[in-house]
This record gives sequence, C-alpha cells and structure tokens, in this order.
Amino acid sequence: MNAPENIAKIPSTARVASLLAKQVASTFDQLGLSFDDRLGSDLTVFSPIDGSELAALRMATPGDVDAMVANARTAFAAWKLVPAPHRGELVRRYGALVREHKEPLSLLLSIENGKILTEARGEVQEVIDICEYAVGLSRQLFGLTIASERPEHRLTEYWHPMGVLGLISAFNFPAAVWAWGTTVALVCGDSAIWKPSEKTPLTALAFAGLLAKAADDYDLAPDHLVQVAIGDARCGTAIADHPDVAIVSATGSVRMGQDVAVRVAGRFGRSVLELGGNNAAIIAPSADLDLALRGAVFAATGTCGQRCTTLRRLIVHNSIRDAFVQRLTATFATLRIGSPLDDATHVGPLIDQMAFDGMQRALEQARREGGIVHGGERLDLAGATDGYYVRPAIVEMPGQSAIVREETFAPILYVMGYDTLDDAIALQNGVSQGLSSSIFTNDMREAERFQSAQGSDCGIVNVNIGTSGAEIGGAFGGEKVTGGGRVSGSDSWKNYMRRATATVNYSASLPLAQGVKFDLDIDP
Ligand code: NAD
Repeated sequence: MNAPENIAKIPSTARVASLLAKQVASTFDQLGLSFDDRLGSDLTVFSPIDGSELAALRMATPGDVDAMVANARTAFAAWKLVPAPHRGELVRRYGALVREHKEPLSLLLSIENGKILTEARGEVQEVIDICEYAVGLSRQLFGLTIASERPEHRLTEYWHPMGVLGLISAFNFPAAVWAWGTTVALVCGDSAIWKPSEKTPLTALAFAGLLAKAADDYDLAPDHLVQVAIGDARCGTAIADHPDVAIVSATGSVRMGQDVAVRVAGRFGRSVLELGGNNAAIIAPSADLDLALRGAVFAATGTCGQRCTTLRRLIVHNSIRDAFVQRLTATFATLRIGSPLDDATHVGPLIDQMAFDGMQRALEQARREGGIVHGGERLDLAGATDGYYVRPAIVEMPGQSAIVREETFAPILYVMGYDTLDDAIALQNGVSQGLSSSIFTNDMREAERFQSAQGSDCGIVNVNIGTSGAEIGGAFGGEKVTGGGRVSGSDSWKNYMRRATATVNYSASLPLAQGVKFDLDIDP
C-alpha cells in the first residue's frame, strides 16, 4: 500500500499539521489501540515531516518507574516458570499481529521518525523477522555438557531466565532495536520495560500495544509482562539505577552509554550497550566501482544519515579518488529529497532542528580543518517550514582530522585518500568507535586481510556491500566506545539469561577436583 495520496506530498503547513495528527489517530484506530491514557502535557511529539505536533503525552515519574519494576518482577516470577517453547508461542502470535498490520505500522513509523516508507517497511519487517527468529530460538536455549575430570560425575551448564530487562532505545530505529532485545528476552523468560526515545513514543505505544494484545489473549502470559515508560533521559536514569532491573540494554549515543554503563556497573547489574558508530568503507583500485558507488550512496544517505551504521568515512585509493568523488557528487545531486511518505523520495528529513544545527556545525568545522564541502544545505520544501530537509554532504578532507573522528548524526560523508592497504586499515581503525566497516575490492587477499585480525577492528566487517543494512541472524554490535554489546543475533540470547554450572556426582566416593587430598577420619 502506498501512503494515502493526500499526505504523500507536502501541502500547506496548517493542513499537514492536522492531517498527520489525524493519520496517527486513525492508525491507532486501525490497530485497535488507543493512547488516550498516556495523554498529558509534559512531552510534545512532533513529526519531522513538517514539525507539526502529533500528540502531547505524560512522562513517567521515578515513582511510576518503581511501580513498573515491581509489576515486572511479579510478571517475571510467573513467566520464568512457563516452558520456553510456550513462551515462544506468545512471540509467534505477536509476530502474526505485526505482519497483519505491517502497513499502518510502517506509516506511523515514517510519520513519527521521518524515514522513507520503504525503510519504515523494512524496519517493520525486521520486527516480524526477529519474532520468527525468537520463536525458533525458544526451542534452542541449550547449555553444554562438559567432560568432567572426575569419574562418575556429570558437568553441565544450564541457562535460566535472568529477571527484568530495562530497554532504552534511540529514535532512529524506534521499533526494531526494541524488538531485537525484547522478543529474545521474552523467550528467555524475562519480563521487560521499554523506555523508548522521547522523540518516537507513539511508535513504541503502537508496537508494545500489539504485544499487550497478544499477551491478553494468551492464558500463559502474566499481566505487565512488557510495559512502556514514556519519558526522557531522567526516565532512562531511573531504569539504569534500579536495583531490580537485572539487565539494562541501552541503544543510543556514546554520551548516554557512558552514563548508563557506570550506573549499572555501580550496582553490579548487567548492561548491553549499543552506542555510536563512525563507519568507514575502503574503495580499493580493483573494486567494481559501480557496485561501490551504489553501496556508498545508500549507506551514506539512507535514513538521512541517521543510522548507527551510516557510512561516514570513505577511504578511496588515490589512483581512483578524483574520478570516484566526481561520480559520487554527481549521484548525490540526483537524490530526491522530500516527504518520506512519497514513494519516489530517497532522503527524508532530519529528525529535528538540533540534528540540523549539529550538521551545520560539523560542516563549518570541516571547512576550518581544510575540507571542501559539496552539498549540506537546507532545502525549503513548500508547506514544511519546520521540517529539516538537507542535501546530503560530501566533504573532501586532507586527512582524518578531529571532526572526521566524531560521529555527527546526519548525512555527511568525509572522503580521504590512501596509498597502501595498511594506510587504509590504519585510517579505518583510527577512530574511537568500532561498529561497522566495509571494503570494496575484487582482490581476494585484500578482502581476507580486512576481515582478519590484522584488518578492521569493528563488530561488523563487510566485503563488497556498504556499512549499513545488517541482517538479524548475525550478532549485531560494535567494539571500543560503541560499547561491546550484542543486542541480538547469533548467541546474544545469552545476554538475557543467567548461567548455572552444575556438577553431579553419581559415584559413591568424593574425589576432589585437581587431585586435592582432604582425607577425613569420620566415624561410620
Ligand atoms: P540518545 O543517546 O540521545 O538517546 C537514546 C536513548 O537514551 C533515548 O531513549 C534517551 O532518552 C535515553 N537517554 C539519553 N541520555 C540518557 C541517560 N543519561 N541515561 C539513560 N537514558 C538516557 O541517542 P539518539 O539521538 O536517540 O540516537 C542516536 C544515537 O544512537 C547515535 O549515536 C547512534 O549511533 C546510536 N545508535 C546506536 C545503535 C547501535 O546499535 N550501535 C543503534 C541505533 C542508534
């Protein structure tokens, strides 16, 4: 389904304002949900499409968070006793509901977050996919049996539910990151509290509302299994500090992660951190340059440069650098920038003015550091005076200066040259972040080296594809200040469970490990 014709274009501001808010209300109707009980005056939610108000909500107080945690603990006590495959059944039903409502959910996500509809649909698909993944996982939460050094002993590892998960998420993936963590945590036997970004709470209420519906219809699901705490950083802090929140999964900026990590570590809680990236692609002389161009443009400009995996640094071999930059700038000039609800649009708006100001500050600093800037200016779209639409920028840099080493959450692609693969890898690794990386090359030795221990130091290492667009099966996350967490994929379910190592002696003697002797004279 395409967006309704009348809101795909951007007409006069007043008209759009009422249309988008009405569209949100009608989407909740279609989903059979309401957010009336969340209405208030502390938090105004805007659409980045035109800056119009979508709703005003009430934020959770620290007292509300306390009550939610108490409810979540009660829910956990019941849920952990439900066999894992039956926990999977709840997630299966939820996935079916999301699939049934994919279009309205995509539209809502696009209106609140500003990503283009095809990317919004992709994000909803990711929620559906992770549900299927989690259902399968619910029958595969296995431990190991380890060879014991003692005769007639069995040594086993069990995985048990961990407790309450507090999940803090960012605005740029307002549904998928929550689903990655929560659906897996649910099959692992945990209860959960979601603190979504204050910029995208309506999307959260819709996705969590459908989960609550699935839980209401499922006898084995206790009340309050998944709750939503609407609020800003203070609400996130209350969750991070709470001694009864066993796991804090936090996705967002490095600044946020630094605060959350210390708070959670201070009380010996478990944190899973998914923080900022500053992702690079190397374009080698042997690369298929058409492929590299396509890969680079999508990775740099998708979601208006607001993906954690967005391509921010391009490291191009000096022999092809000028020609490649010329093709890159020509292709950037063809990008259609406009309403994300229009199927023809490539690049929607930035989330808000703060993001725009940050982008302009970064471009100014890049100029001071010797950069040549192409694009980056704000575009005036009729009827969208409070929407922040920009032409994605390419900045030719003389080297990896201070601004290049920072993550600016906007579509800015810094381009640098290199002579040897060693130099390129040193540039790629020469930043504090370690999320995603890629190399475009047809040279097998280069490709292998890049993936090896001598190559990229990132959590994600790609060959001949861009830095963004990860699949759910692989462990997702990054190293260094990106936080080291793996929210989902592969064996990251272990983050949501606790391990018990059990030794059973089925002999009539008591041999001690490592041959320790401790003979006692015990009267029979
Ligand atoms: P942000 O850090 O401003 O906010 C993220 C979330 O943290 C929000 O819910 C916010 O309310 C909360 N928060 C902020 N400060 C907090 C604190 N001190 N204690 C507790 N909670 C706090 O980030 P954002 O602007 O929403 O998102 C963009 C950032 O997120 C970028 O840096 C991006 O790279 C990163 N990100 C990383 C990943 C990943 O998987 N590595 C995925 C998406 C986004």
